[in-house]
Amino acid sequence: MSSGTLYVVGVPIGNLDDITVRALRVLRAVPLIACEDTRRTGKLLELLGVPRPQLWSVHDHNEAQRVAPLLARLEAGDDVALVSDAGTPAISDPGYRVVKAATEAGVPVVPLPGPCAAIVALSAAGLPTDRFRFVGFVPSKAEGRRKALVALAEAEETLVFYESPHRVEAFLAAAAAVFGADRRAVIARELTKRFESFQRGTLAELVADPGVVRGEVVLLVEGAPEVAPPTEADLATVVAGLLAGGLSPSRAAKVAAEQTGARKRDAYALALSLADAEA
Ligand code: SAM
Repeated sequence: MSSGTLYVVGVPIGNLDDITVRALRVLRAVPLIACEDTRRTGKLLELLGVPRPQLWSVHDHNEAQRVAPLLARLEAGDDVALVSDAGTPAISDPGYRVVKAATEAGVPVVPLPGPCAAIVALSAAGLPTDRFRFVGFVPSKAEGRRKALVALAEAEETLVFYESPHRVEAFLAAAAAVFGADRRAVIARELTKRFESFQRGTLAELVADPGVVRGEVVLLVEGAPEVAPPTEADLATVVAGLLAGGLSPSRAAKVAAEQTGARKRDAYALALSLADAEA
C-alpha cells in the first residue's frame, strides 16, 4: 500500500481571509490534522467552515513522542495536514521533527505556502530584502539576549526577530547598545490585523518611542554597514609606508593585507612595483 502525504499547511497570522484556496481544499480532505493546540485549530476550522476531522496535538513538549504514531498513520496510507496555531509550521513553531521523520521514512511531504510573520514584515518594512537573516526569538534574559545580539553585530544582512510584546523595550535598548543607536530598525505590529502598524526609525528613536506595548511584533534591524574594500590608493599608501620603514616587499604585502583587508596577491604586486620604482 502506498503511504499518505504529509501536507505542511500555512494558516493565517491574524486575518482569516489569508487562508489559501489550496489550504482549504487539503484541510477539508484529510482525515487527520496534527496541530499545536486542538482548541485553537478547532476554532479556526469552525470559522473557515471546514468540518472537523481528527485533531492530534503536536507541540514543543510532545513532538518527539508524536512522531511515531503520526508516521504510522502516514505509512498506513492516511494523508495528514500539519498546522501550527498561526503562520507557517516549523518556523519558530513545532513541526521540524515530524517533517524530518517523514522525509527520512520516504513519506511525501508537500508544503502549502501561507503567511509567515517574518516574511510578511520584511516585505513591507522598507529595509533591504536582498539578503536577510531570520533569527526568530533570542533568549529572554538580559545576558543571553546581549550575547545573541553580539554574535550578530557584524552581520550585513537585515536581521529579523520575533519577540514577545512585553520584551520589546528591553530588546530595543540592548540592540541599540550592541548595534549602535543609528542603525535603522522597524517594529512591525499586529500584521494583517485591524491595528497593523509599522514604526520605523533609528534604534535610538525607537528606544525613545517604542509605541504601544501590546500586540504581536516582528522586529527588524538593518545589517551592519558593509566594510568597503580599500582603494588602490589606500593600499599604495600603506604599502609605501611599510617599505619606507624597511620591510621587504613580501613582508610589507602581508602586513598591508592584514591591515586593509586587501588581497595579499594585490598587495604583493603593488609592493614589488613600488620597490622597483624606488630602486
Ligand atoms: N510560525 C509563525 C510564523 O510563520 O510566523 C511564527 C510563530 S511564533 C511562535 C510567534 C511569533 O511570531 C510572535 O511572537 C511574533 O513575534 C510573530 N508573529 C506572529 N503573528 C504575528 C502578527 N500577526 N504580527 C506580528 N508578529 C507576529
